[in-house]
Amino acid sequence: MEKKNLDWANIGFSYIQTDKRYVSNYKDGAWDEGVLTSDATICLNECAGVLQYAQTCFEGLKAYTTEDGRIVTFRPDQNAKRMVSSAKGLEMPPFPEARFLDAMEKTVAANAAYVPPYGSGATLYIRPYMFGSSSVIGVKPAAEYQFRMFVTPVGPYFKGGVRPLTIRVSDFDRAAPRGTGNIKAGLNYAMSLHAIVSAHEEGYDENMYLDPQTRTKVEETGGANFLFVTKDNKIVTPKSDSILPSITRRSLVYVAKEYLGLEVEERDVPLSEVAEFAECGLCGTAAVISPVGKVVDHGREICFASGMEKIGPVTQKLYDTLTGIQMGRIEAPEGWIHEIPIK
Ligand SMILES: *Cc1c(COP(=O)(O)O)cnc(C)c1O
Repeated sequence: MEKKNLDWANIGFSYIQTDKRYVSNYKDGAWDEGVLTSDATICLNECAGVLQYAQTCFEGLKAYTTEDGRIVTFRPDQNAKRMVSSAKGLEMPPFPEARFLDAMEKTVAANAAYVPPYGSGATLYIRPYMFGSSSVIGVKPAAEYQFRMFVTPVGPYFKGGVRPLTIRVSDFDRAAPRGTGNIKAGLNYAMSLHAIVSAHEEGYDENMYLDPQTRTKVEETGGANFLFVTKDNKIVTPKSDSILPSITRRSLVYVAKEYLGLEVEERDVPLSEVAEFAECGLCGTAAVISPVGKVVDHGREICFASGMEKIGPVTQKLYDTLTGIQMGRIEAPEGWIHEIPIK
């Protein structure tokens, strides 16, 4: 199979249309068998549930080429499972986990020419999503849904080396207590847009959101979970019902314990404790871990010992181990690496 002639190192993170995408429709109480299509457009009624009341959720994962040339994805069963819980939280019919994995294999295989080569730093981003497609005017769940999955190649997250981030403590909340913070709903992102645009205007890379109930505890950013490292090399990660359960964060916690022998605490993290930590990182599929150099809380600067030039030593070790597992250089725990069969 011949690869597309793309400048892998410089494609950035934006939508590039690929050859095929997967579509399945839900009607009369059942999902149809699903197809791959070349048509990248969606034709919807003006009153579709997704357009009126934002009934939609999504997932995000990556396919990439390992050192020995296989095309693989990382723990896609966890994305399939999380999408079921997101669908249930939005009163949508879950797309069965086994079908999610089948759709993913078909979509990636059909676009194998877009999977970047090993060592390029680029990956094939996979975007599964579903939405209410039938008309809804009185507020209620739609009767019909569409599940889709497309892929788009994305460049290395840190072009020209890792740069620690500066983040601010946000005055906006990303989720309500007992709301939808723990599911991957598009609406959580819609409400984060004003907060991120204003953060960027003020020169910050990201927002640190606090728990919406008391505004005293650290939750997460708009799209990544926090991992902190204490001065005595313990890992601390916030625990809360309104945090989106990041698969990357859960994998890093496992790696910290089982590969690096580090102690891990999942617990409340008061904002007042942040200044005590030695390192801070943001975990998500896109970057695996982005180091945070500085948190600014209304003018008060909290600077981590790792500084603004480089990634801290423990964060680096976590990053190297997890990316080593993903790329096939380090033996993976059972079931973490899912190979895509290419015919
Ligand atoms: C998707 C997402 C993450 C990261 O999750 P991964 O499974 O690691 O990609 C973190 N926070 C929010 C709010 C998210 O939507």
